[in-house]
Amino acid sequence: MKILILGGTREARELAKVATGERGLEIVSSLAGRVREPVLPVGPVRVGGFGGIDGLRTWLADNAIDAVVDATHPFAATISANAAVAASDTGVPMIQLRRPGYDERPEDSWSRVPDLAAASETVAALGDRVFLSIGRQGVEAFAGLASPWFLIRAIDPPTGALPPRHEILLARGPFAVEDELRLLAERRIEVLVTKDSGGAATTAKLIAARARHIPVVMIDRPPVPAGTPHVTTVAAALDWLRGLT
Ligand code: NAP
Repeated sequence: MKILILGGTREARELAKVATGERGLEIVSSLAGRVREPVLPVGPVRVGGFGGIDGLRTWLADNAIDAVVDATHPFAATISANAAVAASDTGVPMIQLRRPGYDERPEDSWSRVPDLAAASETVAALGDRVFLSIGRQGVEAFAGLASPWFLIRAIDPPTGALPPRHEILLARGPFAVEDELRLLAERRIEVLVTKDSGGAATTAKLIAARARHIPVVMIDRPPVPAGTPHVTTVAAALDWLRGLT
């Protein structure tokens, strides 16, 4: 069986690694091509958009794909929605692999917001020195905030409008708690803005914020496409693939 893994996440790479050794499975991974120097999965990889739902439908047929695992980032809502429609239209079984969100503790001070616009409306009331840890996309939602200072951390430089007072820090996780604590102290951070991406590689900033009693603006995940079955672990996704053979 030929399996398409829609990737761009650690879980997608782990699944490609374990599924590549499975008898009867042929894996191809797909990346959007957003990151300049991506960490590549094991095995064949294609890079770049498919050209919307129509393009993905055609690609699935042309490449004789038997099943799709949508292991994209929880905030990559467009590709997930497109994949759900394209797979359903072509009768190709699909599952979504989505790691759980972050755990909120009683001692945390989180403001949950539905999207970037709500995050930018919320943040100024919580502090003047903001750690923006949302990746490179979406920073322009904060561009209209002239007063707070922003530490913007991302793998590649953000494009589009930026808030006038900022520092850009290019870095790729995983991050250690001690390093996050040092960063919060050195930049005198008063509030953290992040997405509820989940995953061990990026929890250190939340542990550090908890330790320093720093409030967090937590952007909720977009909804999953209706009707798409989903699992939360690589092992469960592999079981699903085994069940198809
Ligand atoms: P998105 O908004 O859901 O997708 C925008 C377009 O990018 C899609 O319509 C599709 O283009 C293309 N695309 C996205 N993922 C693709 C993939 N795996 N393979 C081929 N084409 C893909 O996606 P995004 O939020 O920009 O994320 C892009 C990639 O970065 C994803 O693979 C995701 O897993 C990864 N990522 C995203 C975030 C985040 O915070 N959003 C964080 C870490 C990693 P066409 O319509 O032309 O097919």
